Amino acid sequence: MPDITTAPTPAAAANDSALRHDWTREEIAALFDLPFNDLIFRAQTAHRRHFDPNEVQMSTLLSIKTGGCPEDCGYCSQSAKFDTPVKAEKLMSVDAVLAEARRAKQAGASRYCMGAAWRNPKDKDLEKVCEMIEGVAALGMETCVTLGMLTDNQAARLKEAGLDYYNHNIDTSPEYYGEVITTRTYQDRLDTLGSVRDAGINICCGGIVGMGEARADRIGMLHTLSNLAEHPESVPINLLIQTEGTPVFGTDPLDSFEFVRTIAVAKILMPASVVRLSAGRELMSEETQALCFLAGAGSIFIGPKLLTTRNPEKDRDETLFGKLGIRPTAGPDVTDAAQQAAE
Ligand code: SF4
Repeated sequence: MPDITTAPTPAAAANDSALRHDWTREEIAALFDLPFNDLIFRAQTAHRRHFDPNEVQMSTLLSIKTGGCPEDCGYCSQSAKFDTPVKAEKLMSVDAVLAEARRAKQAGASRYCMGAAWRNPKDKDLEKVCEMIEGVAALGMETCVTLGMLTDNQAARLKEAGLDYYNHNIDTSPEYYGEVITTRTYQDRLDTLGSVRDAGINICCGGIVGMGEARADRIGMLHTLSNLAEHPESVPINLLIQTEGTPVFGTDPLDSFEFVRTIAVAKILMPASVVRLSAGRELMSEETQALCFLAGAGSIFIGPKLLTTRNPEKDRDETLFGKLGIRPTAGPDVTDAAQQAAE
C-alpha cells in the first residue's frame, strides 16, 4: 500500500485553499497535466475548504434585449454581423422582466441574470435596467446584468441601483482573442472589469472553451483570471454551443474530460470563487455534469433557455440533483414588506 501521507497529492491539496494572484502559466499547465484523479481530488479538496460540496447555486438568465449587436464575437448568435436564426428585438419592458423574474424565483432561482446584446448601454436604457435591478432585488433575488462595456459612471449608477454582480467575460486567452473578436480589445474588457470592481460590484467573469483554441489558450485564460488583483467572485466556464452562421460553427467539439479539467483547474486557482458550469450543459451527459460538480463547479443556470440557446429542462435537473444528493443554495433573505411591495 502506498503511504498517502507522504504522497505529493494530499500535501499539495493542503495548500490549495490559499488565494494566490501570482500563478505562472507553467504552474497552471502542470495542473492540467496531473493524472485525472489527482486533479479532481485537489479541486474537490480546495472546494470543500470554501463551500458546502453538496450545494449548488442556481441562477436564471433572461435576454432582456436580444440580437442586433454591433460586436462580432465569433461564437455569438446575437451579432448583427452573422446570418443566424436570432432576430433583433427591442429592450423588454420592466413589467415583463419582473413577471419572468417572479416565475424564476418560484422555480428555485436565487439569482436573476439579465443580458442585453449591446456594445455598451446608452444612459437612457441604463435607467430602465436600473428599474429592473431594483424590482428583482425587491423579490429577494440576487441581481446580475451583462450589458457590454461600461464607463466608470455607468458602473457607479448600477451599484447605486443595488446591482450585486456584473458579468463581463474575457472569453479566452489574450493570444487567441483576436481570432474570435475584432470589434473590441482584450484591454477594453479588462478596463470594464476595472470600472465594475472600482464601483464595488461583484464580478462574474470567465470564458468559453471549445472554440478551436488550444489547451495553451485555456491556460492563458485562467492565468488572466487568477492573476487579477481580486479573483472574480463568479467564474463561468462555458462550453461552446455552436450556432449555424457563426464563424466558429463546425469547430471540433471539446473532449468532455478536458472540459472537466478546465473546471478543476479554475477551482484550484480561484478556490474561493464560485465556478459556474454555464452554457453547454444541454450537451453534457449526467455523468459529465456530476464530474463537473466533483471538480468544484458550484453554480448552474436553470430554466429552458440561456439568452438564446437551450438549457436542460427543470425536471432533468431535479432528477440529477436527486441522484447526486445536491441541494440548491438558498437565496438572500428579504423582508415580507419588501417582497409585497414588489408584487
Ligand atoms: S457576445 Fe455580447 S457583445 Fe458579443 S456579439 Fe454577442 S451580444 Fe454582442
